[in-house]
Order: sequence, then structure tokens, then C-alpha cells
Amino acid sequence: MRELWFSTDSCFIGGFWTQPASREFLPVENPSTGAPIGSIARGKVADIDDAVAAAGDALKGPWGRMAAAERGRLLTRIGHFVRAKTETLARIEATDVGKPLTQARADAAALARYLEFYGGAADKIMGETIPYQEGYTVYTLREPHGVTGHIIPWNYPMQIIGRSVGAALAMGNACVLKPAEDACLSALAFAKLAEEAGLPAGALNVVPGLGEEAGAALAAHPDVAHISFTGSLTVGRLVQQAAARHVAPVTLELGGKSPQIVFADADLDAALPFLVNAGIQNAGQTCSASSRILVQRTIYEEVLRRMSYRYRALQVGPALDDMDVGPLISKAQKEIVEGYLARGADLEIAAEGRIIGNAPAGGHYVAPRLLANVAPNHVLAQEEIFGPVQTLIPFEDEEEAIAIANGTGYGLVASVWSRDGARQMRMAKALRSGQVFINNYGAGGGVELPFGGVGKSGHGREKGFEALYGFSTLKTVAARHG
Ligand code: NAD
Repeated sequence: MRELWFSTDSCFIGGFWTQPASREFLPVENPSTGAPIGSIARGKVADIDDAVAAAGDALKGPWGRMAAAERGRLLTRIGHFVRAKTETLARIEATDVGKPLTQARADAAALARYLEFYGGAADKIMGETIPYQEGYTVYTLREPHGVTGHIIPWNYPMQIIGRSVGAALAMGNACVLKPAEDACLSALAFAKLAEEAGLPAGALNVVPGLGEEAGAALAAHPDVAHISFTGSLTVGRLVQQAAARHVAPVTLELGGKSPQIVFADADLDAALPFLVNAGIQNAGQTCSASSRILVQRTIYEEVLRRMSYRYRALQVGPALDDMDVGPLISKAQKEIVEGYLARGADLEIAAEGRIIGNAPAGGHYVAPRLLANVAPNHVLAQEEIFGPVQTLIPFEDEEEAIAIANGTGYGLVASVWSRDGARQMRMAKALRSGQVFINNYGAGGGVELPFGGVGKSGHGREKGFEALYGFSTLKTVAARHG
């Protein structure tokens, strides 16, 4: 890939681009073609140990002493470096992850925006003074945890680095980032830009590698004071268990089965683009993908018909061709999605998108599929598929809509489409979900909007100012002076 200006097969530890201690490497594949495009380091326990030590050293050095305003200025500067490289980063991500270019550009822009947001916020998190007994002065200090671990998935590497590492650095933590083995290149590119922008050595360390090796070592490391994990429910549980051994707090950003609920009084012209896009964006490999569309029965046929038109126009092809939908990340992910489609063979296929005729045979393409009249307890309406598959579920009234929407155990994002203001408020309260959107979905990424789940979708919040509280700890100082 001619865009690369950094060492792809290294770890970035203590300001050095180092070979992994094992001298072992993992292949990198282009999911649009299935062809190998390079290799990354296979970091293991020894590399994680080095990275955690380097992060600890950074906290004792210039990074640990840096004033909040200066940290903020530096983050903003890294954001500007990212912005200047948007096109390069987008092409790297499209090639490595299979994201259509438009979307990869949006991810790079979001990364820059997170850095600008958290750069501006770094010196605006303050403690409080607390009225207490006579003769006391009491105040609180917001302090960094120390070394923070960041284990991230492959679906939105740049956005998740921005919201997680960006917020952690803003609060003065030193970070060890373990990107997903299928999507390390943009994380390494980000580290290179941070280095070029002048981030002190050790403030950010990146160790690529397998989850069960580098990831597990990071989650279990006794000197890691906080773990931010974004990924699957299964691995989230393992990470929380590993962190529990040294009582480290954990933020878990897990999966979802997010509903959009369309009432008969909704503005359908406004709703329709969101209904489909929220399901097929990033080929459905989105934690907040709207995989369930709940439609009031009186308008069910109309919504079905109009969504079907859109589906039949969807084109699937290589990421650099920038079609509606790109490939899935890997053969393994394609097999998972096809497995779900096989389990839904009993369901009515309302419409499908089309894989373009000259799509490379080795690419991991799946045609988007809209399934009609799905029972709320069907496995395809209950489990996260992580592919371009949406289920249409009819409902009678508000009460039934709430029961279905809250009926999966997940609770990440939900939306309500209705013109009735009182219903909007009732639904927003009744939905068990970390975010509720009214007459929209996703609100354009929402750098400023606290984000996270309830139930099987996880706990803790990222994005917005809320993340800064999560990436810091509160100390209460009570002085008795008489
Ligand atoms: P995954 O859980 O398989 O992997 C996530 C990360 O964990 C990777 O870096 C992986 O290497 C690492 N890992 C794997 N095994 C590990 C172990 N034993 N110990 C420590 N780390 C380990 O998830 P994925 O397939 O990469 O991503 C898809 C999942 O992520 C979906 O469930 C999706 O909903 C979720 N996700 C959630 C959010 C959110 O913000 N809520 C955002 C994006 C993705």
C-alpha cells in the first residue's frame, strides 16, 4: 500500500517502533479482495509488559507533569495532523477494513473531531468544594487513573481510538492500545501522527497482536489502572473477569440489537433513509446497527414496500469503489453472518441488495437482506448478527412496541419515529437503552453525546464530557483547620 509512511510490523512502545519480542508476525488481508497486503507484529505478554512499563515511566516524566491546557493543545494539534491526513487514513482504513471510502473518510474526520473536542475539554474538568462541618475545608480533585488499557474491535478503529484514547489522554492518563488483529493499520498511523505532533514518549503505546495473547495480557496486567474494552459480549466478560483480579475498573462497550420504532404518525419520508442506512452502514458491522425495525401494523405494508425499493438498489463492492456496502471484515465474519441467514431460512425475504458482477471472488461479500414479519423471539431478532441484515417486526400499540424493543437483553441505541410529543417523551423514558433518538438515528456520530449500554450492551460511558469522568478518579480532600 503506497499510503503507508510508518512501520506496519512494529509495536510502538516508549516512543520506539520496535519489533515484537517474539519476532513473530501476523498477516494483513484486504477484505475486498482476500489478498495479503502486509504483516503486523504479533505482540504478546512481553510486549504488553514493556508497554505498560513505558506508560508508567511517561507518567513520571514530562507527560505526567504537563499542564492540562498544554495537554489539550497537544491533542488539538494531533487532531490537526489527523485532519491533514484524512484522505491517506481513509484509504488505509478502506484497504485494511473494507469500509467504503466515504465512510472511511467520515471515520478519519470523527477521529480528528474527537481530538479537537477532548483537546478543548482537557482543562475544563474541575473538582468541587463541599460545605462540611465548621473548621473544615473540603474539596475534590479529578485525577487520572494512571496507565489505562484500551482494547478495541476492528469495525471502527479510528472512531473508537478517538473517543477512548483521546479522552484518556485528555485526563492525563498514559495509554496502552491493543487494536484488533484484523484492523491495526490506522491505529499505527495514528500513533505515528501523535509522535510527529510531539506527544511525549510513552504517553501512547500500541501493541498489535491476538486477543487471547496481547489482549488478555493487557486486561490482566496488575499495573493497568483502568480498562476500556470495546467488542463482543463474550470477550467483554473475560476482560471484566481478568480486570477483577486486580480490581481495575472496566468500561465495557459491547454489542446491541438496536430498534427503530416507527409509529403510524411518523414522517416516513424523513424516517426511511435512516431506517435502511442504520442497518447497512459498515455492512451492518456496527455496535449500534439498527437491526430491528419495529413498525406499527397500520403502516407496516407501506414501510415494507418502501424499504424494499431501497434494498433492491443497494450495491455491494470493493471498498475503494465506494459503493453502498463493502465486504465484511473476514471470511470468518462472513461465515458467521451466513450461519445466521441459514438459521433464518424460515423467514420471508422482503428484498436483497446486489453484489456487483465484477466483485473480486476472494472478497468477503454478503448481499444485504431485509427480512419481513419476523417474530420478536426469533433468533435473528434476538442475537447480534453483525452483518447487513435487518428484521421488520410489526406491532399493534405503544405497549407492545416497548415490550419488543426492551426484549433482547441488549440496550445500546433506540429511536422513536412519531410526531406525537407526549408519546416521544413516554417512549424515551420507557426504553431500556443507553441512547434514545427521537425522529433521527445516531445523530451524525455524536462526539459530544455520552454513549454506552445497559444490560448485555455493557456499562460505563464514552464520548462527550462523561468519558472524562470515566477516565479519571475522584479524590476527596478534607482539611480540618479549626
Ligand atoms: P471481539 O470481542 O472479538 O474483539 C475485540 C477486541 O478484543 C479485539 O482487539 C480482540 O483482539 C480482543 N480480544 C479477543 N479476545 C480477547 C481476550 N481473551 N482478552 C482480551 N482481549 C481479547 O470483538 P470484534 O469481533 O473485534 O468486534 C465486534 C464486536 O464489538 C460486536 O459485538 C460489536 O457490537 C462490538 N462493538 C461495540 C461497540 C460499542 O461502542 N458498544 C463499538 C464497536 C463494536
